[in-house]
Amino acid sequence: MQVCRTVAECRDVLAAYRQTSETIGLVPTMGFLHEGHLALVAEAKSRADRVVTTIFVNPTQFGEAADLDAYPRDEARDLAMLEAAGVDVVLIPEVADVYPEGDETIVETTRMANMLHGKVRPGHFRGVTTVVARLFNFTQPDIACFGEKDYQQLQVIRRMNRDLAFPIEIVGVPIVREADGLAMSSRNVRLSPEDRAAALILSQSLDAAERVKSSDPDTLRETISQTIATEPRATLRGLDIVEAETLNDIQSGYAGPIAIMLSVEFGGVLLLDQRVITL
Ligand code: AMP
Repeated sequence: MQVCRTVAECRDVLAAYRQTSETIGLVPTMGFLHEGHLALVAEAKSRADRVVTTIFVNPTQFGEAADLDAYPRDEARDLAMLEAAGVDVVLIPEVADVYPEGDETIVETTRMANMLHGKVRPGHFRGVTTVVARLFNFTQPDIACFGEKDYQQLQVIRRMNRDLAFPIEIVGVPIVREADGLAMSSRNVRLSPEDRAAALILSQSLDAAERVKSSDPDTLRETISQTIATEPRATLRGLDIVEAETLNDIQSGYAGPIAIMLSVEFGGVLLLDQRVITL
């Protein structure tokens, strides 16, 4: 496994693969890896000859400096996990390499970035698309894998990829969960033991919604918010029930896949979960 600390070095390694017509799969991450990230790597390996993973805690997608500073990091452990998973190249760029001096270019999906979770975290998705577009240009992959856990992010990236005509196939990978149902996340380590136990309420409330499976978004919303309300440690921050592809509101009589996107806070730690169900 080659570890590249500069974009130039990574370009050279990938260019050699391309010369022998090998296909490239990209897995962008912010590090502090877990089984969810490794599922993306496995998916990329099954679809491409070579896999490049990036580790970059992207400052432009964080609202508060404190959240950026608190983001957990463990590079040595990440590298051991990626090596064991059979990754070919890891790119760990410096901020100045991704955002050069005098940088002024942004990429934004103007509608999708500023709705739903994007309203709770202004500028977040603009930061995501700006960095992902750059990672696409750095690595020029054939495919790129993203988790369905960050559902709005996945749809935002699909739209950017289509609108800017990147010749890349975007692959969505299902959520990997802990044995008890909590969606794996690098943020889970920041939960106190009590909050970790209470966090099960996210998947439980989605299970309850799936059982109700009403075509009326208000019924689904009520089922979920009532379930969350049974957990005093949980503060509901976002609950959006939308058409799965466009993220538009559901009109009455809609039949097709809907996405339920949930964000819940526990003692300053924001956790996400989501479920796609077909009406
Ligand atoms: P992050 O390092 O949190 O930016 O995540 C990097 C990628 O891993 C994103 O595409 C996430 O959606 C994906 N991911 C994070 N957690 C999970 C999970 N539990 N299951 C599947 N994919 C995940």
